Amino acid sequence: MDFSVVIPVYNEEESLPELFDALESAMRELGGEYEYIFVDDGSVDRSLAVLRELHQNSTHVKVISFRRNYGKSAALSVGFKQARGDVVITIDADLQDDPSEIPSLLRKLDEGVDLVSGWKRNRQDPWTKVFLSRIFNYVTSVISGFRLHDFNCGFKAYESNVVRSISVYGELHRFIPVLAGWEGYKVDEVRVRHFKRKYGKSKYGRKRILNGFFDLITVMFVTRRAMNPLHFFGRIAIVLFVIGMLPQVYFFFQWLGGAGLRVRPIMLGGFVMIIVALHIASIGLLAELISARSARDPNYIFKEFLAGRSESQIGESKEKT
Ligand code: UDP
Ligand code: MG
Repeated sequence: MDFSVVIPVYNEEESLPELFDALESAMRELGGEYEYIFVDDGSVDRSLAVLRELHQNSTHVKVISFRRNYGKSAALSVGFKQARGDVVITIDADLQDDPSEIPSLLRKLDEGVDLVSGWKRNRQDPWTKVFLSRIFNYVTSVISGFRLHDFNCGFKAYESNVVRSISVYGELHRFIPVLAGWEGYKVDEVRVRHFKRKYGKSKYGRKRILNGFFDLITVMFVTRRAMNPLHFFGRIAIVLFVIGMLPQVYFFFQWLGGAGLRVRPIMLGGFVMIIVALHIASIGLLAELISARSARDPNYIFKEFLAGRSESQIGESKEKT
């Protein structure tokens, strides 16, 4: 199998037939063997019925349907497990991305990139959402160190080993490029067109973007690639502790020099900081203990594994050369 197209679907009944036609013409043009994996994420409209119909009429369609809405990450994760293609493409079901741009993503893969993300240059969404997502992308790019403009674009192409080695749960689909990049995969982006949502409504409003910032912290700690909890909390604790100690040391020497004993406001402020520092350090230690437990069997990903060869194999390859 050459290509697997994974499509998360949540209440997109009107879009699906058009999307399917557009995908078909793009994939036919590409040539090669391909499959579509539609993951119905607990839709409550007629999406599943439409998908059943597509499944009836095409040999390329697989459909998985959740009993309830688990979220886009869950849908992608299940789709990735089913994907048999050497290249996996993800695209939203809402017609906001253009399937005819798949070849431009694939060209980037051919250059040796492992994950190509779409970059919605002229994003056709409400300005509040565009604005918040700008901030989100900027912060994510600074913290993760990957210079992408659009981490959360649903339109992406992957070498199949990438999707097999990242785990996307909760709402971490926003960070797929970060997760892959931290595993050592080469990540890049190409500009893609973006269209206004034609049917239905967005499932990720302004309210949910805030979650993205919390998830960024999760990604930093849980994946244990960017940060050890104790390193992070420990740093904060040390800074607070040192600042809190300064007035104490100062007044201690004043007292040695013969000044009278007096409680100063700044001294109390310093005490508070010292106590807070001790708390933060203990939190870091607890977090470290918890993460050490779950890190006992980390999932290291091999780039290559050259197993030992036998004498006869070596003989064979010498004959050839
Ligand atoms: N989606 C999903 N499960 C959800 C929410 C969304 O599978 O819980 C799908 C949705 O059907 C669409 C894609 O994820 O194909 C992107 O969702 P949406 O267009 O609502 O997000 P936006 O583009 O507004 O950020
Ligand atoms: Mg959309």
